[in-house]
Amino acid sequence: MQKLDLITDFAEITHGAAITTPTHGWRAKCLQRLGRLDMPVPRTVAVSAAAVQAIAAGRSLDCAGVLACFGPDALVSVRPSPENPEWGGPSTVLNIGMNAARHAGLVLTHGQAAADALYLRFVQGYAVHVARLDPDMFEIAEPSAQALRDALRAYRDEMDEPFPEDPARQLAEVLRSMARAWAGTSARLLRQSKGAPEDAPLGLVVQEMVQGMGQGLSGTGVIQFIDPVTGLEQITGRFVGQSQSTDLNDVCEEALYLTRDPRGPSLEDLAPEIFATLARQGAACRAKLREEMQIKFTIDRNSLAVIDAVRVPRSSRAGLRIAVELAQDGIITREEAILRVEPRALSELLHPQVDPRGPRDVVARGIAASPGAATGRIVFSSAAAQASESRGEACILVRRETAPEDIRGMHSAVGVLTERGGMTSHAAVIGRGLGLPCIVGASDLSFDAKALTITSKSGRKFVEGDVITVDGTTGEVLAGATEMLPPALDDAFRTLLSWADDVRDIGIRANADTPADALVARNFMAQGIGLCRTEHMFFEEARLVAMREMIFADTPADRAAALARLLPMQRDDFVQVFEIMQGLPVCIRLFDPPLHEFLPHSREGMRELAEALDRPLSEVIRRAEALAEFNPMLGMRGVRLGIVLPEIYDMQAQAIFEAVIEVARRGGSIVPEIMIPLVSARREVELVKTRIDAVAARVRTAKLTDFAFKLGVMVETPRAALRAGDIAQHAAFLSFGTNDLTQMTYGLSRDDAGRFMNTYVQQGVFPEDPFHILDVDGVGELLLIGAERGRQTREKLTLSICGEHGGNPESIAFCRKAGFDYVSCSPYRVPLARLAAAHLAL
Ligand code: PEP
Ligand code: MG
Repeated sequence: MQKLDLITDFAEITHGAAITTPTHGWRAKCLQRLGRLDMPVPRTVAVSAAAVQAIAAGRSLDCAGVLACFGPDALVSVRPSPENPEWGGPSTVLNIGMNAARHAGLVLTHGQAAADALYLRFVQGYAVHVARLDPDMFEIAEPSAQALRDALRAYRDEMDEPFPEDPARQLAEVLRSMARAWAGTSARLLRQSKGAPEDAPLGLVVQEMVQGMGQGLSGTGVIQFIDPVTGLEQITGRFVGQSQSTDLNDVCEEALYLTRDPRGPSLEDLAPEIFATLARQGAACRAKLREEMQIKFTIDRNSLAVIDAVRVPRSSRAGLRIAVELAQDGIITREEAILRVEPRALSELLHPQVDPRGPRDVVARGIAASPGAATGRIVFSSAAAQASESRGEACILVRRETAPEDIRGMHSAVGVLTERGGMTSHAAVIGRGLGLPCIVGASDLSFDAKALTITSKSGRKFVEGDVITVDGTTGEVLAGATEMLPPALDDAFRTLLSWADDVRDIGIRANADTPADALVARNFMAQGIGLCRTEHMFFEEARLVAMREMIFADTPADRAAALARLLPMQRDDFVQVFEIMQGLPVCIRLFDPPLHEFLPHSREGMRELAEALDRPLSEVIRRAEALAEFNPMLGMRGVRLGIVLPEIYDMQAQAIFEAVIEVARRGGSIVPEIMIPLVSARREVELVKTRIDAVAARVRTAKLTDFAFKLGVMVETPRAALRAGDIAQHAAFLSFGTNDLTQMTYGLSRDDAGRFMNTYVQQGVFPEDPFHILDVDGVGELLLIGAERGRQTREKLTLSICGEHGGNPESIAFCRKAGFDYVSCSPYRVPLARLAAAHLAL
């Protein structure tokens, strides 16, 4: 094993002393570990970040002293070693120390061709990265003696001096240029965009070159022992004969398969011992570095050297599997495995995929930028996406390319498609962040921004409102809707989340309105339903009429008739939901229909309703006008409906209780939680409670069966939060509906905020969209006040949050700190919430 030397400060070279990631960077630390694992790492000197900083400031290092650590004829490379590999760094320079004398020596050991190629490579690297000459002048396709002479001449002509021969000077110049490049503005901005602090340090490693060129088997490769997409065990990588490490990305004929392959020669065939050694080293890395590593290696005339190793770059799915398997093999603890998986990364594993068995009407292909598939109607602007979302219609946002102004539209869309862009373009990055299926660079679709159409190569035209499917996993755009497969929740996924459940200390429920939602919630192992929006059970076309009939009823008799139609539908839904949830708590919110969501808006809609209700159009119009509200969000909604027309809640309570009895008859058991929405005064709760108790008594008597239930209140108005102490006298639980609470705290309409939210966030009025990220300062304070006052009245009061914020890791942290019992979020966010809650508890 070669020793790793160390330059801690300027003049001093110590041997094998402490190297830490903060002082010398990740690469130096990693090389030291590889050396300790007895891997054949070439001799390396680590230059500390402090020394690099001094070099950038103009001091010069004793490079002759550094080179003395290596053999007299050694060539060296210099590679960056920042604290975090993601932060990049200046380009590696290889073959430092090359001059006429060493070239002559290499001719003897490695042959003329290899010696010429190595010298040429150094001149190129030095000219471009150190002397900063124009790369075009040094791009030579075929290495040859002539090409080398040309490059040396070009250097002399440009610099007015011959190419430097002195190895110490070469090294000093390389170190200086790398140190300065790191200190420069563009490098700083680049690494800051990857999360590095402004003053992130850079270490450098100087390593003896092992030539991957010459007689016998020579070349450079990378090898890893898992599939970076699935995380399953599999040897993948690449080996390129007659090459050095920076060639690995080039496409070239000398590439060998790593493992035995019928298509051509492999490293395993040609060098079985080296292959076996690499496999052993991979296993040693995994066990000792506690990570799946990608090993970069060079073979020089049949002998192996390990140049480097990095954490295998991986998909979220693979990252999760790797963490779980490392824990299952006892290499890391379960807690570590939990902490290694970023909760937000789970969302991309959760999305539906296009069923490969179904037909696919592919109209275009682009770059698969964010996985999962989604079907929706085409919209061409963020405003249209937001409008579509508020109508409850899934939409695909189609743009030429996206810009930060489109983020709000992306939040509203189920998928994104752009004509331009690549894997790291705005749409791709944001799409992945949101777990939103996304295709970018679909350049075979032509986008007409004026006419608002997209046209495929074959001439098929799509306009706003047409239904398409984006398959962000394959990059295919499909016409129409397609069969979807539910998300793949494999064993590793389930295992990790079950470990998370063992450590977390706040409950996670799902917002689920229908039996279908309840199934998803169950599948994601929600601990119950925290919000069942009962009016959403009637959004379905066939049922909407029954709901509208009830809303439109003019007389008590008409209303009673409409309610009688709704009752069995409600009861059947509740029976199904209770059965799916198998005894887990289900919190049912009594009707809260903002009337504008249920009334037809257009004359056409009125006519259809008149037909469905078998009433004259004029009567429907008159009734719609009578019910119209200037601000339906602040009108006859929620409990107000329950107070003014109490028979509606009576019907719902009856349906709930009858469903409880039916489920019990079938052998199940459930204690439903009935929640009153939009409360602002204690008296509202008293009135509703009295009626519901009466209904319960009637059902008990009629069915000769007893049952239990809980009654609670949804805190959605600032007054309810302030009066929580009062309200809690009649409530077994309080659930904070932070959508309305945010709307009312800000006096900001949920439906209209999108119009100016962008400007507000851009100008720093709001740090974030408060409908997306909980406003802890304002709305959060109301939560704390409500929680405290509520618990003063009733010590065992159950507290929760059920607005859209419930699935946000930051909001979960807030609620946990405030002593809430659970958060409730949309079913697809449940796994993320389970993992985020576990992170908080560790
Ligand atoms: C809320 O207001 O936070 C809530 C969950 O209810 P809705 O979104 O149905 O108004
Ligand atoms: Mg609400």
